[in-house]
Amino acid sequence: MASHFLNGQPFALLFRTFREKGAELYLVGGAVRDLLLGQKPEDWDFTTSAAPEQTIRFLQDAFPQHQPILKGRRFGTIGVDLSDSNRKMSFEITTFRKEDGYRDRRHPDKVAFQASVTDDVRRRDFTINGLWMDENGVVFDAVGGFSDLKRRTVRCIGEPKTRFAEDPLRKWRGVRFAAQIGGQMAPKTRAAILASPDTKGVSFERLREEWTKMLLNPNAAFALKELQALGLWDDLLGRLDTPEIGTLSQKNCESAETLPLDLEMRLAWLFQEAPDESRRLFLKRLRFSKKEIQKVAALMIFKEIDCTDIVAFKTLLREAGLSVFEQALTLQELRTPESPNNRSCLTQILNHREPIAYQDLAVGARDLMALGFQGKAVGGALERLCRLVYAHPEVNKKERLLEAAAKIANEEKV
Ligand code: ATP
Ligand code: MG
Repeated sequence: MASHFLNGQPFALLFRTFREKGAELYLVGGAVRDLLLGQKPEDWDFTTSAAPEQTIRFLQDAFPQHQPILKGRRFGTIGVDLSDSNRKMSFEITTFRKEDGYRDRRHPDKVAFQASVTDDVRRRDFTINGLWMDENGVVFDAVGGFSDLKRRTVRCIGEPKTRFAEDPLRKWRGVRFAAQIGGQMAPKTRAAILASPDTKGVSFERLREEWTKMLLNPNAAFALKELQALGLWDDLLGRLDTPEIGTLSQKNCESAETLPLDLEMRLAWLFQEAPDESRRLFLKRLRFSKKEIQKVAALMIFKEIDCTDIVAFKTLLREAGLSVFEQALTLQELRTPESPNNRSCLTQILNHREPIAYQDLAVGARDLMALGFQGKAVGGALERLCRLVYAHPEVNKKERLLEAAAKIANEEKV
């Protein structure tokens, strides 16, 4: 079952090394879940009976060219990056561990290395994340994860209330996994979140990561609605102190799902009714990058693009750049499918290579300076010439633009 993934290098070598040293090694968690769903795992987590120091030695034997990286001795996670120019390939190996009691809700108080693989999976969040696989591709299950996966059900391992109190990030993860597997949360798991949706102590970075995964998901609408239905959304707005963002409309959530899997496009779409400043603050406080926030802001031109004013249309195109402009058109088409012929107008501009950028003008800054323009006046004149050729592309000839520039010089008495 799915064993071909494990037979391929480098896993065959990894398994053989551990077997020959007498240690147990299994693929575990999300990777097993994804393989069973026929999806390619993004990261590969292994769990082993070997102690971290042993794991390091085994890895040095098996992959002498690659230095194992300790991800935190306390939890005994060792990472190896085997990526080269042809492929990205890294994995992590963690010693079986058993956890009981959380002091700060994130870092287990006790990590016992004398644990078995079944102890190890019982500390994991959901049954579908608690499966493990041996080197022959045989899947083992101590928590009912296999049947839950078949029924597309996200269920806590153990008592939901306790598990969510230990780590409230699991509440968001639960919604995300339900969306990713195209299923639902088990009633008790869901009810525990509904009864207590708070995420106190969870960093905004981690919530943002979960939220991004929900947005870039074929079932994004389900996830967004579920966040709101469970009170997780209001909890987030409260913690970010951005209540004015309010509820995301059902209509926007549903249509967001039909957009390309592009983070900024989906964000721009979801926040299309929010005031610019509120949207910016929300994204900033949720630790989206400056670049992402600026791109979302740039995409907001989708509400303005209108080819009936060709000068304004081309100015937006120049300011936004072709790629953002095209994405904005996609957003606009979703909002107003009957909108004017903006797409064909753009195609025409591109096909006819109509001038858009300053560099496309038949005259340059040097020509203008020769006419007496200086400093800021050069930019101002270029802008006016641009607007002229936007409306009349046929005027984009050196002679005619020099003529127009002379007129501008005259008017402005340069
Ligand atoms: P993805 O990689 O898509 O986020 P994943 O299931 O691989 O999904 P990871 O965050 O990579 O999730 O974690 C790997 C495994 O570690 C999970 O499958 C789960 O078994 C366990 N795990 C991760 N986070 C938690 C948590 N907060 N509480 C308990 N177990 C967790
Ligand atoms: Mg993972």
